[in-house]
Amino acid sequence: NLIDKLIINRYYLSLQGDIKMSEFIKEVEKRRTFAIISHPDAGKTTLTEKFLLYGGAIQQAGTVKGKKNSKHATSDWMEIEKQRGISVTSSVLQFNYNGFCINILDTPGHQDFSEDTYRTLMAADCAVMVIDASKGVEEQTRKLFKVCTMRNIPIFTFINKMDREARDPYQLMEEIEQELGIDTCAVNWPIGSGKEFKGVYERNDKEIIRFIPVDGGRKEVDTKIMKFDDPELVNELDDELYNKLQDDIELLDIAGNNFDLEKVREGKLSPVCFGSALTNFGIEPFLKHFLTMTTTPLPRSTGEKIIDPFSEDFSAFVFKIQANMNKAHRDRMAFFRICSGKFTKGMEVYHYQGGRKIKLNQSKQLMADERQEVDEAYAGDIIGIFDPGIFSIGDTITTGKTKFAFEGIPTFAPEHFSLIRNKDTMKRKQFVKGVEQIAKEGAIQIFTELGGGMEEIIVGVVGVLQFEVLEHRLKNEYNVEIIKQPLPYQYIRWVKEGCDLSSLNLSSDTKKVQDLKGQHLLLFTNEWGVRWASEKNSGLELLEFSKN
Ligand code: GDP
Repeated sequence: NLIDKLIINRYYLSLQGDIKMSEFIKEVEKRRTFAIISHPDAGKTTLTEKFLLYGGAIQQAGTVKGKKNSKHATSDWMEIEKQRGISVTSSVLQFNYNGFCINILDTPGHQDFSEDTYRTLMAADCAVMVIDASKGVEEQTRKLFKVCTMRNIPIFTFINKMDREARDPYQLMEEIEQELGIDTCAVNWPIGSGKEFKGVYERNDKEIIRFIPVDGGRKEVDTKIMKFDDPELVNELDDELYNKLQDDIELLDIAGNNFDLEKVREGKLSPVCFGSALTNFGIEPFLKHFLTMTTTPLPRSTGEKIIDPFSEDFSAFVFKIQANMNKAHRDRMAFFRICSGKFTKGMEVYHYQGGRKIKLNQSKQLMADERQEVDEAYAGDIIGIFDPGIFSIGDTITTGKTKFAFEGIPTFAPEHFSLIRNKDTMKRKQFVKGVEQIAKEGAIQIFTELGGGMEEIIVGVVGVLQFEVLEHRLKNEYNVEIIKQPLPYQYIRWVKEGCDLSSLNLSSDTKKVQDLKGQHLLLFTNEWGVRWASEKNSGLELLEFSKN
């Protein structure tokens, strides 16, 4: 097993007693990098904030500005972001807890849901799935979950809002299993819900953690560890609740899935914890379980070989490009996931796709709620590098002797389409340049009719806000105004290279297009059209994402 081999290799190196090496290994060893996936309003922001509270990165909860009520502490976000008070692109937070150095990748939701949200998951080693206890599995969770399963990363479930009326925990777990197709295993079990939510039963330790609220959730909760038969607990819970808890625990042991770390790491079994992010109930138990079950930064593949995160040679890939953070300079930031080695400010790296060496000077990292200059970073970390316009999504930078590129980030299927045209035909050049540049950064995808020119472009996006971003940026950066016409397509599928589109039997409203790389695709207005295409054309493979 490759991963085991890598781990043995790492220990072997540290045994050699090279101090520098073992310090480096320690740094990588303590890294944990994850994304939080959830449907809007399930409590992702609140949970993140509480993680920071427990990590000591903030003194009091309520200080991290929520995306809905803040104008953004940093004044240099895009105009749209400021106007709407939401973040268009995902960000990264780093904090320390119990000797771990934790990177949380934010996956934007609401209207700001975009392809970036999916791409962020490519940079994470595992995901925390937040479920609202009264709502269960919701639409956006389903979409994000699907992307996580593409990489088989571990998924940890936090069932939130137990302080409100919640659905039956068994039902919730069953829904996760049936809707998402992953097994679940309760790590702890809630004692009551709503006002009666008093604590959790820890299955492994066979103990009750009783929570006592402090300062309305602004501070860490007080806890009391009790045995199940503690007279105080028996006294506190009414008979019905106590008996139900007893039955639940017995039933879980008989009927529930067994815990299996191997399966968790393969993304086949999701450990489930219960709690309330608002009141801090269950936050710390969840963090502790989560950290014991997650791994150090995972090795990444180049397609031909696996790159060991503990190798001293630095390597990283771009998973996101954020334009216009500073309007005065119209600059761009490329976000890299470090896959191996150590980053130091000003270091020289080889940019594989550009085919040349470059110096990494301006580098940023988001700590708690501030963006800071970063001087050093390690495998597992995320850094933002000033981009003079040379990077694209998926690009690799390295320092080692051998040149390589990591496997590309897939292109995800857009769900909304518009036809765009240039208002002033004299500005054709700027129009094409602008649209191509914005597509290159990964904010939109562009398609044309088979054999068609760039006069009319079909723009596809994952989240509708990207249309506004496009319009705004074309006007501000390229001085181009566009005419936009919504198209009725809802589904897009890539077809295998060499497939003759003209011979396909398709429904009359299916459109044949090509992307920038000349790959052929089909656009459908409804699911029925997709089914028709695959049923009437034997051997036709329709892909929901493109690998390159
Ligand atoms: P996000 O959209 O997933 O980031 O959700 P937020 O963290 O912004 O939370 C959405 C709403 O749910 C806010 O009003 C929160 O105060 C509330 N909320 C979050 N966690 C809890 C919880 O554990 N219990 C209750 N009752 N409300 C919560």
